[in-house]
Amino acid sequence: MQKRDIRSYSLEALENYMIEIGEKKFRAKQLYGWIVKGIQSFDEAVNMPKGLRVKLEETFLLDNVKIIKRLSSEKDQTTKFLYELWDGHVVEGVLMSYKHGYSICVSTQVGCRMGCTFCASTLGGMVRHLSAGEIMGQLYAVEVALGIKISNIVLMGSGEPLDNYEAVLQFLKLVNDPAGYNLGMRHITLSTCGIADKIEALADENLQLTLAISLHCANDAERTALMPINKKYNLERLMAACRYYTEKTNRRITFEYGLIAGVNDTPERAKELGMLIKGMLCHVNLIPINQVVERNYQPSKEASIAAFKKILENYGITTTIRRELGSDINAACGQLRNDHLEG
Ligand code: SAH
Repeated sequence: MQKRDIRSYSLEALENYMIEIGEKKFRAKQLYGWIVKGIQSFDEAVNMPKGLRVKLEETFLLDNVKIIKRLSSEKDQTTKFLYELWDGHVVEGVLMSYKHGYSICVSTQVGCRMGCTFCASTLGGMVRHLSAGEIMGQLYAVEVALGIKISNIVLMGSGEPLDNYEAVLQFLKLVNDPAGYNLGMRHITLSTCGIADKIEALADENLQLTLAISLHCANDAERTALMPINKKYNLERLMAACRYYTEKTNRRITFEYGLIAGVNDTPERAKELGMLIKGMLCHVNLIPINQVVERNYQPSKEASIAAFKKILENYGITTTIRRELGSDINAACGQLRNDHLEG
């Protein structure tokens, strides 16, 4: 029998479990305190009776995410991790070190089924969803291995977070729980390719996280060619969901726009983008695309990026250019895992 995934449990669920097995309720709080510290074995929970630790060991899987590879960038403060899950599947993540602390990029699915043509995560399709506990497990694995505390989380690893909505929402609640991991929602960014109805559902949760939309193109025909999800939720539908999100939460949306030379980086494309989003509570993050060998896409030249930025600014849109991090360690989504699977 597959053991139960204890890192997905809320404090309340642990309390119910303790009561169910005839233990005192306060044991749940003790255990929860250990879990959010990232213990890898129940024996580390030293204030729990030995008998209970044995029972927990028999019932639950604790150490559900193991680091099997670590690559540090020579160029910048970026480390890439390959993790193995309990069933042997692998996902990847990145840790970035900034002046204000550590930021981690986590995966939400093994592979991805969204099919974006520039993205390496989707090449083999989606294998399975991650549980909330497996997303938490990525934080614990890195914190324990490096002896650090993470201060920012981006859901931008492999997978589409809103295609795994229940688990991702549970993860957000766990990571934010003041009685547990206690990371403020404002330190979390969720990135989506644009699943409009789930954006609206998330808005209704009224969490103060940052929503990032992978836009990449501002006309329907070309966006559909790059991102098949646009067939289901076109730009009009997506923008309606984004407006709903900002109205409900008062949070500024980030539009991510990966610039691919000769594909979506021309002045015409910049004007289209300006027209589409001007006046919205938003900013644009321009990303020189990481080259993916399986596809024939090249990053835009610096001059095209600067020109694109200038046009957006003429529409009154705050625009930043993302620093390219970890390009020497295959830091773009899915690239390390693909190397691993092929190797
Ligand atoms: N599925 C989610 C989150 C994972 S992808 C989403 O689509 O937002 C995280 C970000 O990396 C997205 O903006 C995605 O479009 C971008 N991305 C994918 N492949 C890339 C590449 N080769 N170079 C640069 N960015 C890429």
